Amino acid sequence: MRHLVLSDIHANLEALEACLADADIRGYDDVLILGDVVGYGADPNAVVDRVRELEPVALVRGNHDKVSVGLESADGFNAVARAAARWTTDALTPSNRQWVAALPRGPLVVDDDIQICHGSPVDEDEYIFGPSEAQLALLTTTRNICLFGHTHYPAVFQALNGTMEGTRVASAVEAEIVLRTGLKYLINPGSVGQPRDGDPRAAYAIVDAPAGRIEMVRLPYPVQVAQDKIRKAGLPDPLADRLASGR
Ligand code: ZN
Repeated sequence: MRHLVLSDIHANLEALEACLADADIRGYDDVLILGDVVGYGADPNAVVDRVRELEPVALVRGNHDKVSVGLESADGFNAVARAAARWTTDALTPSNRQWVAALPRGPLVVDDDIQICHGSPVDEDEYIFGPSEAQLALLTTTRNICLFGHTHYPAVFQALNGTMEGTRVASAVEAEIVLRTGLKYLINPGSVGQPRDGDPRAAYAIVDAPAGRIEMVRLPYPVQVAQDKIRKAGLPDPLADRLASGR
């Protein structure tokens, strides 16, 4: 069973289409969505439509999804994120707003091997950047593989009997992770639509738990097209600028 894992798409249609085209070639059986489908980018409706077409078997909401549909206030956001959330609220069609508002809170169990969340399995809004946060999260996971997003940094944390066994960050390289039996994994595929690890290429993963393999993929997409749309939409300029630097 090959799961296509998409996180932090952030209304970037160009990045999403590039990932889907690449994933079609590699092959996958179903789709898992780790939240932040909208917010920041200029195509919230086209992206939600595309994700709905994919009929994900499991999906969770992200903080930007919540704020964009009024489930949470934008108080915790900086000015740029707040402006983007307000713009997204106005842009979403009633049907898509309803769909975003109905996205479930993580963590969510997918099958015997996998669970998914947006921030961490403890708290959907928590950031897991380093091994100390990862270790705490790994103590609470109920499956051997927990997929998360939110930081926009591809990362692989692994633990044996509750103790960290290693950290691998697959930034800037396409990597195949071979899973070892007995270890618990916390894996961030990186962000489809707004990478922040210094590599502007879109990031996603294909997870095959029974085969013990994870493909961490990076691939170029038409960044300039996405940037032009952001500027034309009247969204804050820094949102367009950062796509080129991947920061
Ligand atoms: Zn995000």
